[in-house]
Amino acid sequence: MSQSSSLALHGGSPVVNEPLRWAPWPPVSEATADKLRDVYLSREWSFNSPMEQQFQRTFADYHDAEYGIFMANGTVTLQCALAACGVGAGDEVIVPALTWMATAMAVHYVGATPVFVDIEPTTLCLDPTETEAAITPRTRAVIPVHLYGGMANLDALGEICKKRDLIMIEDCAHMQGGKWRGKGAGSWGAVGSFSFQQSKTVASGEGGMCITSDATLADKIYRIKHIGYNMLAEQGGAKDGPPAGLMCHNFRATAFQAVILDDQTQQLAERIRKYEESAKIIADGLADVPGVRIQQRGAEATEQGYYAFCFIFDSEPLADIPLSTILEACRAEGLNLGMTYGTVYNHVLYNMPAESYRIANANCPVAEHTAAQRTAMFLHYALGADRKTIDTIPKILAKVAENAQALR
Ligand SMILES: *Cc1c(COP(=O)(O)O)cnc(C)c1O
Repeated sequence: MSQSSSLALHGGSPVVNEPLRWAPWPPVSEATADKLRDVYLSREWSFNSPMEQQFQRTFADYHDAEYGIFMANGTVTLQCALAACGVGAGDEVIVPALTWMATAMAVHYVGATPVFVDIEPTTLCLDPTETEAAITPRTRAVIPVHLYGGMANLDALGEICKKRDLIMIEDCAHMQGGKWRGKGAGSWGAVGSFSFQQSKTVASGEGGMCITSDATLADKIYRIKHIGYNMLAEQGGAKDGPPAGLMCHNFRATAFQAVILDDQTQQLAERIRKYEESAKIIADGLADVPGVRIQQRGAEATEQGYYAFCFIFDSEPLADIPLSTILEACRAEGLNLGMTYGTVYNHVLYNMPAESYRIANANCPVAEHTAAQRTAMFLHYALGADRKTIDTIPKILAKVAENAQALR
């Protein structure tokens, strides 16, 4: 220790005596439990049941799209979106280097080649300039991911896709309820893809949805997830089949998930309002703290969804302190932070052969350094904590930054 320190890590008294606690996630209610019982007794559990149709309507409306197609998870939604847009073998699809691997795996599943492109250091989302530079004659589609607490620049990326005749599919797994210029996340691309996996902001254990306002795409996506049935067919009552050669699957979800999700969507606007309020308190509390910056929200996000809240330690006096040391110091003060996914192509679960994907420019320095080595976060439900808890978060980070010298 090069100078005296008041850090709890060095024996000082912590900012809080008990680690900060968040309300448990996902939320549960007796009212939803009663509705689950009703659906159970109704025997209408799947196959485009009334409850699924209701939820599709609720969720598509919320995000300003005409159609919602409910599915088993937020990976097959991406796969269906790509397949319905005709993306397949021989095509390249641009994806951000920093995202959950599902974004890239969906590209592999349709036989196309993911091209990993670097992210912006501010929003941690796909960099439009790098995206344009990575386009080749084989590029067919771009998948911007609205990641953690940021929205990808839909104006710039939309413009590039239009100019270069590329399909834009938005991965909104982290952006339930987010809006860009007042219009729903997922409604800007040809298709928007959402996940309802246990940790997400709208969650039913598993689940996913594609939204689109294109009737032809909606029909194709529906058929792909529903073994070829059209939207109006009843079980055993198919009157027509899918277009020749369209590979269809069973990617259906169930009415039970729809009950939980429909209720949570009713509360989504209020949840986002609370999250934004907490995010602002933390941002204001850190405005004059050197060494800690926060992920920028979407430049034109009118409602910012949050899957996580990110702190970036890439300036003095914290820039050269190992992230693990900073996390240890925060934990000792009472704040538990986690790390980002890191780049997909370095993820322990990503085992695709090197010739099946491409990394633009041979590396992605912002994703590899800023995101993977200098960024820490907590998940969204922490933003639901009470005012006193939220106030404590910037205090802990400020104390760690003030004592940076002692961490060297
Ligand atoms: C969670 C997630 C998905 C989809 O995941 P599922 O677990 O299959 O629902 C897709 N993209 C991103 C960025 C995600 O975080």
